[in-house]
Amino acid sequence: MFKAVLFDVDNTLLDFLTFKKESAKAAAHAMVEHGLPATEMEVYGKIFATYDAKGIEYQKTFYEVVKQYELEINKAERIQQAAIVAYSKKKFEVLHAYPMVRPTLRKLKERGIRIGVVSDAPRNKAWQRLVIAGLENEFEVVVTHDDTMEKKPNPSPFFVALKKMNLLPSACLFVGDNPERDIKGAKEVGMRTCLAKYGLWTRAKEPKADYEIDKFEELLNIVK
Ligand SMILES: [Mg+2]
Repeated sequence: MFKAVLFDVDNTLLDFLTFKKESAKAAAHAMVEHGLPATEMEVYGKIFATYDAKGIEYQKTFYEVVKQYELEINKAERIQQAAIVAYSKKKFEVLHAYPMVRPTLRKLKERGIRIGVVSDAPRNKAWQRLVIAGLENEFEVVVTHDDTMEKKPNPSPFFVALKKMNLLPSACLFVGDNPERDIKGAKEVGMRTCLAKYGLWTRAKEPKADYEIDKFEELLNIVK
């Protein structure tokens, strides 16, 4: 019944939130260790406050946090770079695909199902995460924020994927963790939808998806 399955990346294919939390914790630790006059909890709070204000992909987060302490310029830079290094080290350590993602994708492909990605992450970050998670060779199409400069639920990224794969929306299942972005957007362009409940962290419960999965491999029961 489905010719293709399209996936969100963060919190659907890989455990993005754990990576962000653990990496921010490592960065906060490094900043305090390198002389930032604050507690780790305070710094961690400021990192997430910056994400809340500027978006979770904001690239100058540590700069913004350190700036608040009005330190001498070399001291500030030393602390900021220590944070970046600690964050990156932790990222490589903790960022991975959810269990059974790779074997499940392989099985879908064996069944003749085409697979692609529609992510709101910037192109470089989306590909970097796919590479770190070992998923960079799995997908026929990877659509990122740079392709449309729009974010789900805007229909544009969904349409770009459909066009690249030459598919009608009715032939596709979209799998994502965010009801208000993934499920809403995919529904509105006419795809059927599946909520990745294991990655759900927003409080939003609407709109309801056609299917829900608690484990990635349950997709194999939906896409037969
Ligand atoms: Mg997501």
